[in-house]
Amino acid sequence: MSRDRKRIVELLRGGGRFLITSHVNPDGDSVASQCALRLLIEGLGGTAEIVNSHPVPRSYRFLEGTARFGTTRPKSWKPYRALIVLDCGDARRASGLLEPRPPLPVVNIDHHASNPGYGDLNWVVPEACATAEIIYGLAVALGVRPQGELAEALYTGILTDSGSFRHGNASPRAFRIASLLVGAGVDPARVAQAVYESVSFSTLQVLGKTLAGIKCTADGRVSWIRLPHSVLGKLASPAESEEWSSYPRSLDTAVISLCFKEPEPGLVRISFRSKGAVDVAALAAHWGGGGHRNAAGATIRGTLAAVERSVIAAAERHLDRGRA
Ligand code: 5GP
Ligand code: MN
Repeated sequence: MSRDRKRIVELLRGGGRFLITSHVNPDGDSVASQCALRLLIEGLGGTAEIVNSHPVPRSYRFLEGTARFGTTRPKSWKPYRALIVLDCGDARRASGLLEPRPPLPVVNIDHHASNPGYGDLNWVVPEACATAEIIYGLAVALGVRPQGELAEALYTGILTDSGSFRHGNASPRAFRIASLLVGAGVDPARVAQAVYESVSFSTLQVLGKTLAGIKCTADGRVSWIRLPHSVLGKLASPAESEEWSSYPRSLDTAVISLCFKEPEPGLVRISFRSKGAVDVAALAAHWGGGGHRNAAGATIRGTLAAVERSVIAAAERHLDRGRA
């Protein structure tokens, strides 16, 4: 085990009070990893508070402890031994807690290949399919055999970040850990139902209209959907559309897929998805974004129409370059 990993294990073993955070617009892996780490810390006699910039999306509220997630920045850093940042590849996306850098040790546990190691202690494993997979390794290093709510949280992180074991990151290790967790009592049907089958009627109607507006270009190799501000506003929360970027990718011909969302007029959040070797993290980087090879994101200022035009043109060029 590397020096930083050992020091992280020692830090947590020492107990005390910790602050945990993750990236803005939390997804299944970030919520699940934070739940799991807090349960581990509590099991060791310590305490942890979780603070995120956005509320927990509805579909992850079945996880133990999500009702205790906060969205308010702490008034003082003094009570905490460390700030632990999970599943966040870029310090500027750490729910605002690293801007400015707080006066306490920062622990960075993540699986994004682009993570520069912004922590004082860093545990970054790009081969891990999810941060939850790393937290599983942390549990093992602490001598804990995950069960109950801890096992369920770890399974949920691995399930969601591997796209239900469909993406290129669904490694033998990811399957092995999932198998151990199910063996320890996790109910895959319960988790799948909570995560994928708990959508409200009105949200499904909005999804229907959004899918009817799907567009494609480059012989169907680039496909996309769009959620203008007026449409996003019809959802109980924008987070209800978190996973919709998988729909344009389900088109048989699609290689690069996008989902454009306008959380406020003049601001566009883009989810990039790709198949195979096509690297959309490199594409998202043109606009200061990032992520993984097959799933990345960026946020751009501009009207939805203008952003759509320029990003689709760049996606087409990106494919052409790959061919050349
Ligand atoms: P999503 O499209 O689901 O929001 O994000 C897909 C992946 O890209 C996630 O791993 C997410 O953390 C990452 N990502 C999304 N937006 C950004 C961004 O603006 N910058 C960076 N560095 N990563 C992002
Ligand atoms: Mn993740």
